[in-house]
Amino acid sequence: MPRTPAPEQLAIDGGTPIRGKLLPYGRQSIDEDDIAAVVEVLRGDWLTTGPTVVAFEQALAKRAGAKHGIAFCNGTAALHACMGALGVGPGDEVLVPALTFVATANAVVFQGATPVFVDVDERTLLMDPRDAARKVTPRTKAIVPVDFAGQPCDYPGLRRLAAKHRLKIVADACHALGGRQQDRPVGSLADLTAFSFHPVKHITTGEGGLVTTDDDEIARRLRLFRNHGIATDHRERSLAGTWDYDMVELGHNLRLTDIQAALGLSQLRKLDAWLERRNAIASAFDQAFAKIPGVSVLPRVAGDRNAYHLYVLQVDGARFTKGRDGWYAALRAEGIGVNVHYKPVHLHPFYRNRFGTGPGTLPHAEAAFQRILSLPMFPAMTDADVQDVVRAVRKVAAAYARA
Ligand SMILES: *Cc1c(COP(=O)(O)O)cnc(C)c1O
Repeated sequence: MPRTPAPEQLAIDGGTPIRGKLLPYGRQSIDEDDIAAVVEVLRGDWLTTGPTVVAFEQALAKRAGAKHGIAFCNGTAALHACMGALGVGPGDEVLVPALTFVATANAVVFQGATPVFVDVDERTLLMDPRDAARKVTPRTKAIVPVDFAGQPCDYPGLRRLAAKHRLKIVADACHALGGRQQDRPVGSLADLTAFSFHPVKHITTGEGGLVTTDDDEIARRLRLFRNHGIATDHRERSLAGTWDYDMVELGHNLRLTDIQAALGLSQLRKLDAWLERRNAIASAFDQAFAKIPGVSVLPRVAGDRNAYHLYVLQVDGARFTKGRDGWYAALRAEGIGVNVHYKPVHLHPFYRNRFGTGPGTLPHAEAAFQRILSLPMFPAMTDADVQDVVRAVRKVAAAYARA
C-alpha cells in the first residue's frame, strides 16, 4: 500500500503542499468600475495626456496633502524627473539607502551623478539619518529616503540633516501611498515625493508614477522634464489656439496617458478600503508570527499609518537548519509566492563595476538581506489565504528548527 506522507513533511521533501496554486506576493484588483472608466476615455477625444491626467494629478495631490501632482509614465521616470528638476548632474552626490529597488539609485545615475549608499537602521530597515550624516560631503545635493515596505522614514531626523546642509529631500514613496506620519500624509513629508502605480503597488495604472510637491518652480521644472523641455503641452496650446512652442531645455517624453489616468482615478476611490485590508492582514501576521521562535517582523510606529506595500518576515539563520534561501524554496513549494526585497543595490554588478561598491560596507543592509522574505500581501487576499501563509510559515519553522 502506498504510504501517505506525514502532514508535517514539507512539500519540498515530497509532502503535500499547503496550496495547489501559487499565491502571488502581490496582485492588482480591477473591478467593473475601473473597466468602465477606461472605456469611457477610449470613446472620447483625448487618449494621451489630457483632462483625465489633470484630474488624476489633482485628486492624488489632494490625497497626499500636496499642492502639485505631476504624473509620469512610471515610478522610475518620476524619480528621474525629480533629479532633473533639482538640477542634479555630474559631480553631484545623492544619498540613497542600500536596501531599495535599483530604480532609486538608477535615477541618480541617469543624470550623471553619483549615488552614495547609506545604511539602514537595523531594527526598522529604513535609512539611518546618523549614517546619512556621516556620508554628507560638499558635493551632496539631495537625500532620497525610501519608505521601505510602507513605513514612513524618520523624516524629522532627515529634515534636520537636510536643513543643516541645505539639501533637498526626495522621498521614494513607491511603497507608501496612503501612509501617514502622525497626522501628515506621505506626499507632504519631503520636498518632492515619488509614487509608482505598477500593478503590485497600492493602486495601479498598468505603468505609472507621480510626483507631489508644494514648490511651484519645482512643479514647473518637473513638467518641462516630462515633455521634451517644452514650456507648454499639446492641450495647453490647443486651448490657447496657438501652434507655437519653445523648447527651453533638453527633456524627455515621460508622459502618462488619459487611458491610464482614468484607471488611476477609479482605483484611487478604493485606496482607503485597501489600506485597511492591508493593515488587517499585517495585524493577523504580526500576531501569528510573534509565537514562532526564530522569526521576527518589522516594528510598528505608534501613531503612524504603515501602507504595507510589503510584509517582511525575517528569519534568524542561527535558529534554523536552513537560511533564507532554504526558507524561500520551501515556502514556494508550499504554494506561497514569497519574494526577496531587496538585494542591496551596492552589491549589484553594475554598481560594483561603475562605482567600486561591494560587500562589507553597509553592514545592516547586508545582514538584513540574509534574513528577509516578503510574504504575500495584497487587498484581495482572503482570510483563508492569510491562514495558508501562516500555516506554511509554521510548517517550515517546525521542520527547520534547530534541536
Ligand atoms: C516600484 C518601485 C520603483 C519604481 O517604480 P516603477 O513604476 O516600477 O518604475 C521605485 N522605487 C521603489 C522603492 C519601488 O518599489
